Amino acid sequence: MQLKEYKALSEIQEDLNQGHFSCEQLVNNYLKKIEESSSLNAFLEIFDESAIEQARLVDRKLSNKSAGRLAGMVIGIKDNIVYKGHKVSASSKMLENFESLFSATVVDRLIAEDAIIVGRLNCDEFAMGSSTENSAFGVTKNAQDQSYVPGGSSGGSAVAVQAGLCLASLGSDTGGSIRQPASYCGIIGLKPTYGRVSRNGLIAFASSFDQIGPFANSVEDIALLTEIISGHDSMDSTSSNKEVPEFYKSVKNLDRTKKYRIAYIKDCLDHPGLNTEVKAAVNRQIELLKQNGHSVEPISYPFLDFMVPAYYILTTAEASSNLARYDGVHFGYRSPNAKNLEETYVYSRSEAFGTEVKRRIMLGTYVLSAGYYDAYYGKAQKVRRILRDKTNQIFDDFDFILSPTTTNSAFKIGQKSNDPIEMYLEDIFTVQANLVGTPAISLPLGRTANNMPFGLQLMARSFEEQNLLNFSALLMNMN
Ligand code: GLN
Repeated sequence: MQLKEYKALSEIQEDLNQGHFSCEQLVNNYLKKIEESSSLNAFLEIFDESAIEQARLVDRKLSNKSAGRLAGMVIGIKDNIVYKGHKVSASSKMLENFESLFSATVVDRLIAEDAIIVGRLNCDEFAMGSSTENSAFGVTKNAQDQSYVPGGSSGGSAVAVQAGLCLASLGSDTGGSIRQPASYCGIIGLKPTYGRVSRNGLIAFASSFDQIGPFANSVEDIALLTEIISGHDSMDSTSSNKEVPEFYKSVKNLDRTKKYRIAYIKDCLDHPGLNTEVKAAVNRQIELLKQNGHSVEPISYPFLDFMVPAYYILTTAEASSNLARYDGVHFGYRSPNAKNLEETYVYSRSEAFGTEVKRRIMLGTYVLSAGYYDAYYGKAQKVRRILRDKTNQIFDDFDFILSPTTTNSAFKIGQKSNDPIEMYLEDIFTVQANLVGTPAISLPLGRTANNMPFGLQLMARSFEEQNLLNFSALLMNMN
């Protein structure tokens, strides 16, 4: 049975409730599509057995009217989010065949609402990268044109939704890893406020930046998933105990009369690397917003050049510390060539980490070393504080900061893989939200002449996801 391509959970639930098909049939339908699209390399593993089992359970719950809010939601998870009894590798040889003993809090929360987790999705190794080319298990391809990257690091999560291989997915965003691939795949991706969503069970990259968030085709689904995965968790002391508003309800009952104040950073739109088609599309969007009665104003924020360097100093420092646990002893890969403890450490790490991960561990170790700590790590911390204060000042006068998500649409596979600096500049517009901790969303905006998509980014004050989601829903229907 071939089902139509659904773009929102509410449509699926309507058809499920009318008995057009069962959850089991729905899952089988997705499994078939995943199989047929294997050349995209979005999934590293399909959890077919547990997915079907869960589908049968949800079917039973549907028939006795006890199903949760995510009944009918078939979802994939990035390969750095753990799921009890299932493998998780962070797309690294280091964790190949590693099986998790527990589930991430987000996974528990999804399942408690009857979501069906269909598999784990390819990403850059330990979420370090912007193209998914750094996976130890092959590159994921953009479903629009397979010669292009999907973005990264959550490339598999983005492509799975883009190609309709699952309805939604989870990714993680440390410097743009949800928003940049969402932009390149023409879908929606949200990075929640730092602390909004528990990181328990997310394989750590840079702990003061990492945040889990959803990919989907509709703002409603993004709102519902964010609402369900958000909230305090005693297993993550950085998770906030701020109340989680009813995001979904508010998006469904949208106040279409509300007018917002939007700022855009002049330097972003004047950035020399900005593709002219992207710039024109952002300018058109600004005009449209004004025509609809919103105020949109240029502001000065002369710190753009500091963001990527501060981000790479701080995140590599944190990564070098987080990745010290992969020592060939505790868990993960152990070199068969080592004859003593020292060799166990050195060979295991040398043989199992990829080039980019090694580069970051070395950079991070360097910026934290006694002689250079003040010059790099200490200074970058100060810069982070300034960026945070200055960004929060903008939110005294505005609801959102608008920018392109990326300077261009997707690049070709291989085009930037030999130039780390070029690759790092991919993050120019996205790292601000992680440095500051604010929520940010990427919405599909347009396509370049080669028909590849690109997105619009909106950033809001910390814990203002509600406003951000409402405005996103408004914007997606604006013309
Ligand atoms: N591209 C950025 C990096 O390589 C972002 C990664 C991420 O958000 N996980 O660090």
